[in-house]
Amino acid sequence: MQNYKYLIIGGGMTAAAAAAGIREVDTAGGIGLLSEEPDAPYNRPPLSKKLWKGKPLETIWRKMEGAQVDLRLGRRAVEIMPGKKRVKDDTGETFSYEKLLVATGGAPRRLPLRAGDIIYFRTLADYRRLRAAADSVRRFAVIGGGFIGSEIAAALAMNGKEVVMVFPGNDIGDRIFPGTLSRHLSEYYRKKGVEVIAGEKITGLEIRNNQRILKTGGGREIVVDEVVAGIGLEPAVELARSSGIAVDDGIVVSELLQTNLPDIFAAGDVAQFYNPALGKRIRVEHEDNANTMGRLAGRNMAGMSEPYTHLPYFYSDLFDLGYEAVGELDSRLETFIDWKRPFEEGVVYYLKAGRVRGVLLWNVWEQVDAARALIADPGPFTLNDLKGRLPAAKK
Ligand code: NAP
Repeated sequence: MQNYKYLIIGGGMTAAAAAAGIREVDTAGGIGLLSEEPDAPYNRPPLSKKLWKGKPLETIWRKMEGAQVDLRLGRRAVEIMPGKKRVKDDTGETFSYEKLLVATGGAPRRLPLRAGDIIYFRTLADYRRLRAAADSVRRFAVIGGGFIGSEIAAALAMNGKEVVMVFPGNDIGDRIFPGTLSRHLSEYYRKKGVEVIAGEKITGLEIRNNQRILKTGGGREIVVDEVVAGIGLEPAVELARSSGIAVDDGIVVSELLQTNLPDIFAAGDVAQFYNPALGKRIRVEHEDNANTMGRLAGRNMAGMSEPYTHLPYFYSDLFDLGYEAVGELDSRLETFIDWKRPFEEGVVYYLKAGRVRGVLLWNVWEQVDAARALIADPGPFTLNDLKGRLPAAKK
């Protein structure tokens, strides 16, 4: 049996950040990493953004050499034995640990259709498959109007592909953006040549003469060469749950990122944590959270006691539009839109009971910390207080 001082389950950005975090505190203790993916840890955001704008694939790899991690790739952990402090993988091999990190992330939600016919976009393998398709065929359907759908549709269109986007909501990004902005976004995509079909669910998929025919609830048939989908993520909690680790919407962690079981930590997309600025428990599926929380989990595994109080930000690139955002971006909240140039540059404030819950910085940069401070401020704020508040004046 292989013994590790630190064992990490998962091979994503959180896992890579945790290994680096451990090494900041403990330069010698052995680190093992079990990852289901065949690839070593890499940065995920470029898969739907910069790799489609000419950035080379080699740039995505995480620098792991310095951390001296024993990478066990293509291995799925199937059992955690908290009493014995052991983990078993799908080859039957068992590993012991002193400290364990569960960084299992999540799996793409799937439609009830035959597996294999749709690229549920998440991993480097999915990127490779989509890139190979983009190199050989012309017409793509993109299912979903959220993060993956909007980024991949833009990426394919920018690479000269015909793209049909289809999703059940009213407009692109309508769960997070206020109505006027998501309506504008759908129009913007149409002007860029994307066929946007809103308000439609996929009910079937047939393959005829090498073409895929998507059927919608409204009776349409969408004929394409390849289908890619981003219809949300399911946190990968089953391994944890079956081992007695407390799970709610994700693995429940303390401010030190510990689970309810001794010496077992969790972080990243799969972890549900308390955020002091928002005053509630949240689970966040974005890069900044993976990196910041992963690193802190590693440091705490190696003996530090540092609370995770960070409010993560996220960002996206959609053709030549770009934004950063922090906090709760929920279009059901009251919103106040402060445009400098309508739909091109401005700030959206999301409010609840006089407090700012989230801030969208639309083509407005270097304001994430100021936005975080606004969210942490108990206020109360009126719309007048917010007009012109960001970008903050330079000191
Ligand atoms: P997402 O942003 O939650 O979007 C899901 C989309 O799928 C929504 O448009 C939703 O429509 C639609 N949908 C849900 N059920 C559907 C169904 N049965 N048929 C068709 N459409 C359906 O999730 P995602 O785009 O798949 O992204 C996956 C994860 O990757 C997320 O955690 C995301 O945060 C992360 N990610 C982040 C970034 C970034 O930070 N820039 C980029 C890429 C991915 P309705 O809203 O109408 O239900």
